[in-house]
Amino acid sequence: MGFSSDPMNHYKYLIIGGGMTGDAAAQGIRELDPTGSILLVGSETHAPYNRPPLSKGLWKGEPEEKIWRPVPKGTELLLGKHIASLDAKRKQVTDDKGTAYGFEKLLLATGGAPRRLPQPSDRIIYYRTYDDYRRLHESVARPVRVAVIGGGFIGSEIAAAIRMQDRDIVMIVPEQGLGARVFPADLAAFLVDYYKKKGVETRIGEGMTGLEDRGSRGIAIKTTTVGGTEVTADLAVAGLGIVPNVDLAQQAGAKIDNGVVVDEHLRTSVRDIFAAGDVANFYNPALDMRLRVEHEDNANTMGRAAGRAMAGSDEPYNHLPFFYSDLFELGYEAVGELDSRLETFSDWKQPFREGVVYYLKAGRVRGVLLWNTWNQVDAARALIAEKGPFTAKSLKGRLPA
Ligand SMILES: Cc1cc2nc3c(=O)[nH]c(=O)nc-3n(C[C@H](O)[C@H](O)[C@H](O)COP(=O)(O)OP(=O)(O)OC[C@H]3O[C@@H](n4cnc5c(N)ncnc54)[C@H](O)[C@@H]3O)c2cc1C
Repeated sequence: MGFSSDPMNHYKYLIIGGGMTGDAAAQGIRELDPTGSILLVGSETHAPYNRPPLSKGLWKGEPEEKIWRPVPKGTELLLGKHIASLDAKRKQVTDDKGTAYGFEKLLLATGGAPRRLPQPSDRIIYYRTYDDYRRLHESVARPVRVAVIGGGFIGSEIAAAIRMQDRDIVMIVPEQGLGARVFPADLAAFLVDYYKKKGVETRIGEGMTGLEDRGSRGIAIKTTTVGGTEVTADLAVAGLGIVPNVDLAQQAGAKIDNGVVVDEHLRTSVRDIFAAGDVANFYNPALDMRLRVEHEDNANTMGRAAGRAMAGSDEPYNHLPFFYSDLFELGYEAVGELDSRLETFSDWKQPFREGVVYYLKAGRVRGVLLWNTWNQVDAARALIAEKGPFTAKSLKGRLPA
């Protein structure tokens, strides 16, 4: 039959990764192919769920039942199994117990793994999964002090979530503000003050130089302050970003460049193998650049598009994804290239509380941050698609807060 897996283990569609992208892909396949066999393999022991509530809603009393995603009919789930190898020629994958599965079309929806610190310690939680949430939630039920390492997306959200449980918290942030890689400097500095007022201790501009696990006495973190301050805590949460899981794509000989490179139909450079979600590097026509996006809208939309493409659709993936976050009572939605190194123009209705920040390059809007400003995502996308040229003056009041 041309494959050496047990014929029982042969699937028309095989999805590796039981995250939001993998699940959305199964939905996409079912939209066009109601009966083709689908196997979705995930190394977590849980069925697909939404990750954003792990750092938001679940800490504010949202019921856990709400995070589970309805898996489409006729999708076989294989959970708690890690796919260790991929043979593109024989069109089969093998799990870590040696069982082989054959496929006609394969999707790599393998996402990313948290970047880790060199110091091994089981007092560090690399926050990514439902199990990480359960562990942290259980830990902060006691009066513990928590160190959050990193002031980016996950670090800022988790720090707020833990502080809302009335726990002592210290943030260690090497940059000069919170979200400093994304927000303009004044907004990143405002957030530091805002967090301080919420009772979060902040060590801003202090990189971590060492970490010592002192057993039942907790952990001690050394930072780059002159004199070498030591920060102590019972446990740490590290939010250091993720590294895309490209090993299987590499084994297949697929092109890799900051993730798995895909074309507009979400095909990798290897026939019948697709990739989508956090792991995929795709071209976006509105920005005229390649992107790898680590956000929910992209996982859902690109996952679905990949599923449809696997089932024969030839619609290109041209979507410019948006993302969002909540920081205590503040919240935002954003589209495009949010890079604090770009020229920015902040159009505040109320400084740092409500307004729009535009990110510009060569007279064009590259990104829009909608700060406590809602229902403007599509208008922001349209603005990014416009040629311009734009100036601060011409953008004032363009997207009303
Ligand atoms: C705590 C948290 C909060 C977030 N909040 C927001 C938010 O507010 N807004 C927003 O836009 N985005 C948010 N995100 C980002 C968003 O959740 C991700 O972009 C999305 O989950 C990516 O989905 P994915 O399926 O591509 O990858 P992942 O979520 O990484 O899922 C990949 C899955 O594949 C499995 N896997 C990997 N390799 C293998 C293998 N070889 N065999 C079997 N299984 C494998 C992994 O175990 C994992 O379960 C958040 C992320 C986290 C972690």
